[in-house]
Amino acid sequence: MSDWPWYLLIAFYGSCVGSFLNVVIYRLPEGKSIVTPPSACPHCGKTLRMWENIPVLAWFFLGGKCARCKTPISFQYPAIELLTGLLFLACPLVYFHTDMQMPFAEVGINGSWPILIVHLMLIAALVAATMIDIRHYIIPLGIPYVIIALALVVYPVAAHMGVDFRHVVELPHGGGVRIALGGLIGLILANVLLRVGVLPYSFADEQQWLESIQKEQQEQGAIGNVPSATSQPVASDDGHHHTPIDIYLQYPHTRREMAKESLFLAIPLACMIAGYFLLPLAGQVEGMYWLRALAGVILGYISGGAVIWITRILGSYAFGKEAMGLGDVHLLAAIGAVLGPIDPLYVFFLAPFFGLLAALISFGVARIYKGQARVIPYGPYLAGATLVIMFAGKFFEHIIG
Ligand SMILES: [Zn+2]
Repeated sequence: MSDWPWYLLIAFYGSCVGSFLNVVIYRLPEGKSIVTPPSACPHCGKTLRMWENIPVLAWFFLGGKCARCKTPISFQYPAIELLTGLLFLACPLVYFHTDMQMPFAEVGINGSWPILIVHLMLIAALVAATMIDIRHYIIPLGIPYVIIALALVVYPVAAHMGVDFRHVVELPHGGGVRIALGGLIGLILANVLLRVGVLPYSFADEQQWLESIQKEQQEQGAIGNVPSATSQPVASDDGHHHTPIDIYLQYPHTRREMAKESLFLAIPLACMIAGYFLLPLAGQVEGMYWLRALAGVILGYISGGAVIWITRILGSYAFGKEAMGLGDVHLLAAIGAVLGPIDPLYVFFLAPFFGLLAALISFGVARIYKGQARVIPYGPYLAGATLVIMFAGKFFEHIIG
């Protein structure tokens, strides 16, 4: 295999990306810049020398301690670097050297490398989203946004440059393109209506409610038992709310808020139907590969986002407690933007099995928290299921098909 030098380079590049993900994982939820300042010991503030930034190896050379103050450095740093490096290595190996490749990879790496790069970036995003969701019960929306933007730009450009897209997103024909463009118009319209105040933001009064019950409980002298809203830093890069702690499950107006979210979601769904019947596009889109690739990204985005959001609305309405976060909605939307409209459905049905597995493993831990309603981060299960679909999707197609 003459490609080995390339694969070693991809693995090294992956571990460097992992090093960057460590910065993202620690700083993004705190609302800090991920660009400056350079990495430093959190204890004594010593800036890392050049060689101490070498992924994985530097940690072992340093013996897992800061060179100056000898404070232990978390094993999570080299672990994330190693994991990302291995996943980056596994992706082209599976795609181009096994029977389990994604359909687009059938044309080989020379004909499909722009798509591979987007897939690698999705893997990096899944690692970051998983770690942040486990630590903070949130998925900063910046992570899925970057991936969605990447797919929106790279796929149409690659299709225009001649990359074979037939199998990536099942290039939609005239009707599919009209549905996708209708959905895009609807999404823009719904967001504009939200910004100008015609549509209400959901959970707009939640913070106010939280403060009022905390004040109430403080007055009753039960301070020690109340999870403080400020004890865990919560990033919110767009004004959407997040659910970092269990106390949010006690919010009393969840059903009312779901009506607001249904109203928002109804606009793009209605526009998809309207687009199919009203947009004046038919045969002429057949030769416009960039437009069809763009439509595939949009349909994947809508498919992934809608399946979680509808589940969230139905689940929250049924139980009166918030089910799944908007971070999960955006994460599966990003997965759909990259993998097309069908794979997010596989991911959605596979993810609960990961949840079940995790629940069995953590059974001993769960008993410590008995009697408490636990907020379960769903992002890690979506991420795990996505990797299975990316690396072994054909296996499931054989079972189902
Ligand atoms: Zn130090």
